[in-house]
Amino acid sequence: MATLEIKDLYASVETKEGKKQILKGVNLTVHSGETHAIMGPNGSGKSTLAYTLAGHPKYEVDSGQALLDGQDILKMTPDERAKAGLFLAMQYPVEVPGVSMTNFLRTAKTEIEGKAPAIRQWTKDLNASMKRLRMDSKFAQRSVNEGFSGGEKKRAEVLQLELLKPKFAIMDETDSGLDVDALRIVSEGVNRAKENTDLGILMVTHYTRILRYIKPDIVHVFSDGHFVKTGGPELADELEETGYDRYLPQGADSE
Ligand code: ADP
Ligand code: MG
Ligand code: MG
Repeated sequence: MATLEIKDLYASVETKEGKKQILKGVNLTVHSGETHAIMGPNGSGKSTLAYTLAGHPKYEVDSGQALLDGQDILKMTPDERAKAGLFLAMQYPVEVPGVSMTNFLRTAKTEIEGKAPAIRQWTKDLNASMKRLRMDSKFAQRSVNEGFSGGEKKRAEVLQLELLKPKFAIMDETDSGLDVDALRIVSEGVNRAKENTDLGILMVTHYTRILRYIKPDIVHVFSDGHFVKTGGPELADELEETGYDRYLPQGADSE
């Protein structure tokens, strides 16, 4: 059983106008097998939290820690974080022309495990995962995300999740832009990872829709750079009814 413990995290982003602090005292503890929904208005800093944990160079930690089984991942390089068991499914997955999905996935797997996976088993696992995610086998030879539709990009993120088997996954709006069928397929993939590997999930979402497919144990409201409320699944239902208005900082408009 693994634990991810975010302690009083403050972080800033480099903007054209200078440094802007976005994360203002984030505290969160996630254990293996738990699903935490992180819900909040647009612009509250959810993606900033995701990027800061993953080690995006544009985001600077001002203070605080993120301990994965006691080790501060914020002191690690992004690849070390991945090796430690952290995975980020991006809100807007990046296209990588010239690098095929199959090469990318196998290289990532090799780096994370410290040795190349046995080719037969790997091919079998890759094909099985793609089939379950209803991805045509041709996608394996295509460049990473290049020309993929929004839904295909999200499936490709879940494919990585299934194959790389991290301890903790941050899913940044994996549900946004998906039609009902794609949402179900993607959710089933996440649920499989949860069952098979006791994955801990930080599921960032703006909408409650995905929570019908991936059941959260705990629901948090994130506003103005930190958590302002924590509750059970019923909190998501309440948000669906009332929106985020009451959680916005004074004077702010919801989007
Ligand atoms: P959310 O994911 O909750 O919608 P974000 O983390 O994307 O929120 O953004 C939080 C705030 O930080 C916003 O005001 C946004 O404009 C700003 N921000 C985030 N990343 C950048 C960036 N790379 N450059 C400039 N501003 C940024
Ligand atoms: Mg946003
Ligand atoms: Mg975002």
